[in-house]
Amino acid sequence: MAFSRLAACACLLLATTAHAAEEAAPGRDLAQPVDEGYTRKIREYTTEPFFLSPLVDYLPASPDVPTPQAVLGDVAGAPGKLPYAADVYRYMRLLESRSPRVKVRTIGRTEEGREMIAVAVASEPLLAAMDENRVRLGKLADPRTIAMDDAEADRLVAASFPVYYVTGTIHSPETGAPTALMELAYRLAVDESPYVRYIRDHVVTLITPVVEVDGRDRQVDVYNWHLAHPKDNWPPLVYWGHYVAHDNNRDAMGLTLNLTRNVLGEYLFQKPQVLHDLHESVPFLYDNTIGDGPYNAWLDPILTNEWQMIGWNNVSEMTRLGMPGVFTHGDFDTWSPGYLMFIAASHNGISRLYETFGNAGADTVVRRLSPDEYARTWYRQNPPLPRVSWSQRNNNNYQQTGLLVSLHYFAQNAPTFLRNFYLKSKRSIEKPRLEGPAAYVFSADEPRPGAQAELLRVLQRQGCEITRATAAFDVPMPVRKPKDKDKDKDETGAGGKKAAEKPKTETRHFPAGSYVLRMDQPYSRIADMLLDYQYWSPDDPQKHPYDDTGWTFGELFGVQVARVADAAVLAVAAERVSGEVKAPSGVEGSGPVLAVNHNADIGLVALRYRFKDASFEAAEEPFEAEGTKFARGSFLIRGVSAADAGRVAAELGLKVHALAAAPSVKTHALRAPRVALLHSWLSTQDEGWWRMALDQLKLPYDYISVQTVAATPALRARWDVIVFPPVGRTAAAIVAGMPRWGNPLPWKTTPLTPNIGRIDSTDDMRPGLGAAGVQSLRDFVAAGGLLIGVMDTAELAVSYGLTQGVALGRAEKLKAPGTIVRARVVDAASPIVYGYADSLSVYTADGPIFNLSNVAGGRGRRRPPEETERPTGRGTADDPDLPQGRPFAEPPQEPKAEPWEALPLTEEQRRNPIYVIPPAQRPRTVLRYGDEKELLVSGLLEGAGDIAKHPTVVDVPVEKGHVVLFSNNPIWRGETLGSYFLVFNAILNFDQLGAGRTLDTE
Ligand SMILES: [Zn+2]
Repeated sequence: MAFSRLAACACLLLATTAHAAEEAAPGRDLAQPVDEGYTRKIREYTTEPFFLSPLVDYLPASPDVPTPQAVLGDVAGAPGKLPYAADVYRYMRLLESRSPRVKVRTIGRTEEGREMIAVAVASEPLLAAMDENRVRLGKLADPRTIAMDDAEADRLVAASFPVYYVTGTIHSPETGAPTALMELAYRLAVDESPYVRYIRDHVVTLITPVVEVDGRDRQVDVYNWHLAHPKDNWPPLVYWGHYVAHDNNRDAMGLTLNLTRNVLGEYLFQKPQVLHDLHESVPFLYDNTIGDGPYNAWLDPILTNEWQMIGWNNVSEMTRLGMPGVFTHGDFDTWSPGYLMFIAASHNGISRLYETFGNAGADTVVRRLSPDEYARTWYRQNPPLPRVSWSQRNNNNYQQTGLLVSLHYFAQNAPTFLRNFYLKSKRSIEKPRLEGPAAYVFSADEPRPGAQAELLRVLQRQGCEITRATAAFDVPMPVRKPKDKDKDKDETGAGGKKAAEKPKTETRHFPAGSYVLRMDQPYSRIADMLLDYQYWSPDDPQKHPYDDTGWTFGELFGVQVARVADAAVLAVAAERVSGEVKAPSGVEGSGPVLAVNHNADIGLVALRYRFKDASFEAAEEPFEAEGTKFARGSFLIRGVSAADAGRVAAELGLKVHALAAAPSVKTHALRAPRVALLHSWLSTQDEGWWRMALDQLKLPYDYISVQTVAATPALRARWDVIVFPPVGRTAAAIVAGMPRWGNPLPWKTTPLTPNIGRIDSTDDMRPGLGAAGVQSLRDFVAAGGLLIGVMDTAELAVSYGLTQGVALGRAEKLKAPGTIVRARVVDAASPIVYGYADSLSVYTADGPIFNLSNVAGGRGRRRPPEETERPTGRGTADDPDLPQGRPFAEPPQEPKAEPWEALPLTEEQRRNPIYVIPPAQRPRTVLRYGDEKELLVSGLLEGAGDIAKHPTVVDVPVEKGHVVLFSNNPIWRGETLGSYFLVFNAILNFDQLGAGRTLDTE
């Protein structure tokens, strides 16, 4: 074993000095027999000879190792063949049992209990040495373990071999990767050509053939249904994973999904140098990691250079092999770190992503490309063809050729990439004295310890080390820059001396027990990415952000995070936190009444439902009891023992105060209402994040579709609250559903489709909410129910007349494509904002603009300024015009209102007030968007004036019930914990939403 490693090292040395070993040209070893039948099928299923390469236009034969045909009954990429995950695993385990070059391990389970695996393929000596190699890679990944000794790192690099991790089919309709990866594993294990042998001898290829296993099995069901009903339209894949669709590839920040946690776990365990994720949406192979700007600002430039190296090698090699349509620049920016592949980018590895061309299934079809897809551009000199007959085999050829070329290049340059791996890790540790900051500090006096603990747990899951100060400490912090207006004042006052002034600092005190996330650790980069602020300039040449532009976790979690630049913070006495961070919890005091402060920590809603039958009341005003201050909305609980409360409080990270007597404060009953979560059959992607949040909190709910609503006239008898999360479609589309021509589209569990119809089912996905559904919702609200609408479903409630006094404004210039903005509490007495201070940060994605009116059907628009400006006439601009020949009549004051308010009623409107909404039924703005200048918190914001000061959350009383409208999305990707409680407050207080309201007198 020692000998073979030595041989391997010599080889590497040769490869790098000889520069791109031409001795290993791609192509078969003539001495090795070919599997003739399999090879014939490869050629048959490939639609043009140039969609093949010398790397995949044959399959070597092996006397011992079965080909994918053993499981598929045909070759990889064959038309009509889409294996379930279990079939893919069966083949990988067959390989493992027949080849000493393959090892399979379980890396975790999905939400629905399906297995996820990782397959390692390499030469026998490499596989046998994986454990000891992992120890070496672990030292390179954490240079503190070798005292940052470069010479020792060089010795480790020379002794080590890299690991290249490939992941397939995270996006379920992108179906080709599993068969491509089955065949790739076979080739790597069996092929004796010098090219493939070289890979096998120098790098471990690690493969997770199916990332979204739950969705894969559903996709195969749908495809099999399509094969069984060849003349019919087939049902769209409405559920990919258990919760979300394409957003399963946006979870690398929040780490809420099992698939992300499992791949991250494998990444942190194996210490691979690359994570390469396979997608299928762009012809023919777009290596999108180089993509386009802006690049994520927290990446080590060494990494972005590595992207260029591997990407351009990929393009040039595949062009040399004669394959058209391979390119690496395009319309993907690398700003957001939410993509699965970014686990590597944010943890000192190399992230890569392929888009190849897929047909969403295994049919061979003619595909017509759009002009922007086939145009020759500066970066795509050999573009895809405008019209092609395309097969899944073509796709498999591209995926495998690209991967083999990448693996070979990577193997040839293994020492370079291993040294870079070390260097990136070392520079991450040196962050405090390079770019900074030195640390992020989370204060022990945080008002929301539950959210703070959750944020710290996310960072722990990311592999970050957390320490806790054992004594109080002070650090200098920069003084916040004054707002523009004030700055002008300062400059005038300073008499032009400002150039000489240094940036001012102020001392910030942190109590003992504060958490310190030191930046002198290997995974400092992910902490910095998540906790820092993002600024995307409106002038950036990139006009189409690929995803969210702002995600600052402290803001979205509603937690204070201090970015400390002064390296003295690293000397603060602190100890490493072992185990998960927990919020302080337990019961203090004694007595029959339990009080829990409302701080909008999400554990509070779980507490209410855990003691479903106990008496809970909400205080309508702040109060003080036995020396403790309680915020408005705090819970007063009776009928729960201190022991039971303490047990649950510990679990939920809550503090309970037992009081001898109830405080004298106005309260109302706080229910544990019956909740329905409403979804459309058009899409469940955005709704999935809401479902996940409720599941994680064990908040009970019924999951119903728009069709259930349409078919249930008496909704109020069954539910108190209907939550309708955003659908991602227009209001009209949600009502209409899918077109009714063609055949019914069943989403049901059957022997042919055993994996679908389990989360929810229907005989026909096409019908939408319909007029009957709209009417049912209207009746539900009128009878005392609460309907919560968010973004497009809020628009639905407004435009279909479920509310009155709310109108939708039109954005002129607004661009907030996933941006964090400031929202201000307008009515602190509303139960919806219990637990919040006067402002909070919310996530918005071009949310609707609400305007309020006191008149039903009113547009609620603000009077355009020109109407109130004076007309042409006598005097100066500020004088009134004076008609001649009679005394001047002073005009009455025009009604004025802020953008979040309705205009006051006029005399004319009150004369015959048919349309005037009675004061108790008028919309109540609870939360509004901040002023234009303060609106942006993080990300890209253009045209802020369109939405500044407009309502963010409106509570609309409708007869006995309420409709609560959200312009922001309060529950998004497990990242917005700070705004969850706006929803939970509405739910818990569904029949008391009028509390604290001051009614208009007119
Ligand atoms: Zn994709």
